[in-house]
Amino acid sequence: MSNPSKTNDLKKNIRNTLKNRPDGELPYKKNTRKAVSKRDERAGEWQDFSERRAHISSRRREDIEDLHSLHKTLRDNLKSHGVIIHDAEDSDSACRHVLDILHKHKIDRLLKSKTMLSEEIELNSFLTEHGVTPVETDLGEYIVQLRGETPSHITMPAMHLTREDVGRLFEEKLHIDYTDNPEELTDIARNVLRQEFLAAGAGLCGVNFAVAETGHIATVTNEGNGRMVTTLPRVVIALMGWERVTRSLEDLSLLWQMLARSATGQKATVYLNLMRGASPGPSGPDEVHIIIVDNGRKDIYEDLEMREMLRCIRCGACLNVCPVYQQVGGHPYGGVYPGPMGKVISPLLLGLDNAPDHPFASTLCGACEEICPVSIPLPELMLLLRSRKINLHRGIDYEAPAWKTFEKMMSNEKNYNKATKAARNIQRYWMFGNPPIPGWTRQKDNPDIAPVPFRDLFDKIEDDQEPDDE
Ligand code: SF4
Repeated sequence: MSNPSKTNDLKKNIRNTLKNRPDGELPYKKNTRKAVSKRDERAGEWQDFSERRAHISSRRREDIEDLHSLHKTLRDNLKSHGVIIHDAEDSDSACRHVLDILHKHKIDRLLKSKTMLSEEIELNSFLTEHGVTPVETDLGEYIVQLRGETPSHITMPAMHLTREDVGRLFEEKLHIDYTDNPEELTDIARNVLRQEFLAAGAGLCGVNFAVAETGHIATVTNEGNGRMVTTLPRVVIALMGWERVTRSLEDLSLLWQMLARSATGQKATVYLNLMRGASPGPSGPDEVHIIIVDNGRKDIYEDLEMREMLRCIRCGACLNVCPVYQQVGGHPYGGVYPGPMGKVISPLLLGLDNAPDHPFASTLCGACEEICPVSIPLPELMLLLRSRKINLHRGIDYEAPAWKTFEKMMSNEKNYNKATKAARNIQRYWMFGNPPIPGWTRQKDNPDIAPVPFRDLFDKIEDDQEPDDE
C-alpha cells in the first residue's frame, strides 16, 4: 500500500479523501481531539502558562536570530568530543553522506529511530536503491513502513490507523495469529525489533536539539528505541536540520517540557537522550557522526518575513487542533509535513509552485497560532504566502479593476442604488436561480438579494408613521 498523494495535488487529494471517507469515527479525528484535550490539561497545570510560553518563544527567537554564531560554538564543542561533522546542502548530499559512512564500514542494514528529516530527504528509498535495508524502530514508524506508507502525523506516524488495522497488518506481514490487543501487538513488534537491535551495525537518529554550549545531541522519545539505536550499534549517525540548535542545557530543559506538553500532553517524555561523542566499549558507539542538513533552511533564514518558521519545534500541536487536519488526516497534504505547519514549511522548502494550494487550505481560524508553544504566527505566514503566490502568477490583473469598481459603487449612494437594482433584475430574470460565482458557489449559496431593499421598507415605515397634518 503506498501513499499516492502528491504535494501539488492538495485540493484534489482533499476532495477525494472527503468523498471516500468511511462511515463512523475517524481515527485521526478521535486521536487529535484526545491529544488537544491532554495538552490543555497540562497547560492548565501551569498557572503562569502564558508567561512561560512567552519566555520560551523569546528564547527560541533569540536562538534563531543567533544561529550562525551558535553553529560555530556547537561545531567546536562537537569536534572536541570527537563527533565527525558533515554538512549537507540538500537531500541528495545528506543521503550520500549516510551511504558513504555505511559503505566505509561495510554495513548494509541501518536501524533508525524516528526522524521526520529522514522522511524529508527520502532516505529510506535512497538506501533501498543502493542496497541498504533501513529498519524503522519507532512503533508507529515501523507500522507505516510495513504498510509501505509515509507517516500521517509528525509525532504520531500511524495516527490514521485503528488497532484492528494494525492487527490485520501484523497477521499478514509477520505471519502471526490475528490480535487487536495493543499490549500483545506491542510485544510482537518489540520481539521482532529486539533481534534487529542486537545484530545492528549502525544506527541513525534524529536530533530534536543540539546544545551549542555543551555539544550535546538531544533526542526525545517515548519508547526507548532512540537510546538503543544510539548505544548498541558501533556506528551512530545523527541527522539534524540546520535550525535545530539551542544555546544551553537550561534552554533545552525549557523546550523539552514545552515540547512534551504540546505534543502528547505529557509532563515529560519517557526518554531524553543526551549524546556527546563516541564512547568505545560496552556502553556506547565507536564512532558518532552528525549530518547537518540545510535543504532550504538557510533560504528561510534569509527570508526575513518567513524566518519565524524556523522556530518550529515539530511538536505537532497545530496539526491536532486544525479543523482541516481533523477532517482529512495527514496523507492528502502529500510530502512530509501536514497541517498548519506544513502549509507554511512545505511551500518554503519545496518552492511555492510545488505546494501551490498549501497556504490556501486553511480557514485562518487562528487555532494553530493559539496552541503553538513557540507562538509562530502561522495564519499570518499563510496570508503572506498567498499573496506571494498570487503575485507570482498574476497575469492579467482582473482583481484590481474589480475592487476599484466595487469601491466606486460602495462610496456613492447613487451608484450603490443603481448596482443593487441591476443585481436584483439579474436575479429576477436568471433562469437557474442565482448566477454561480466561480470558486465560491460550488460549496456555498449565492444569497438572494431581497426583492424590496431595506431602505425602501424603512422609508415606507417612516411614511406610515408620519402623523396626519389634519
Ligand atoms: S508550528 Fe508550532 S504548533 Fe506547529 S509543529 Fe511547529 S512548534 Fe508545534
